[in-house]
Amino acid sequence: MTAAHRPACHGKPADWWDTGDDGNRLALALCGVCPTRDGDTCTAGIPDPHPHGVIRAGIAYSDTGRRLPICRCGYPQDDYLGGQPTDCRRCRVPDVPIPDPRRVFRWRVRDLHLAGIREAEMARLLGRSPSTIRAVRTAEGWTRTKADTHAATGRTDRKVA
Ligand code: SF4
Ligand SMILES: [Zn+2]
Repeated sequence: MTAAHRPACHGKPADWWDTGDDGNRLALALCGVCPTRDGDTCTAGIPDPHPHGVIRAGIAYSDTGRRLPICRCGYPQDDYLGGQPTDCRRCRVPDVPIPDPRRVFRWRVRDLHLAGIREAEMARLLGRSPSTIRAVRTAEGWTRTKADTHAATGRTDRKVA
């Protein structure tokens, strides 16, 4: 076999042709210029009329033998179950709920409060004013730490000799 007739996958990692592998985009590109490709058919080796879980002749097949659409990013949509093709899993934005920043701020104040951190220190750590910290704590019913009360009143537990 001359180089001009050699399959484009010859000598390349076979994993690239396993549907879902990170090498799929390259595999599809190589199939696209392969001299042993005949339309949708790969004529190299022993003919496989029903490929499963692999890329052959530029077509990506699922584990069940379904032809998979190619996403605009160039990868097969390997979790495609039928219907209108959408973005592949690589392009989909994770569906993670973004918490309200005000709630996140309250959670952080609560955690610091439970850890016994004083208002002034919380303000420094959270980059907010002590009065903002105090407003959150008052609204949530979290009472001041003993140290805060002493700081506000100027009292101290230290006994004077
Ligand atoms: S068409 Fe067949 S022989 Fe050619 S690169 Fe693709 S899988 Fe390999
Ligand atoms: Zn994609």
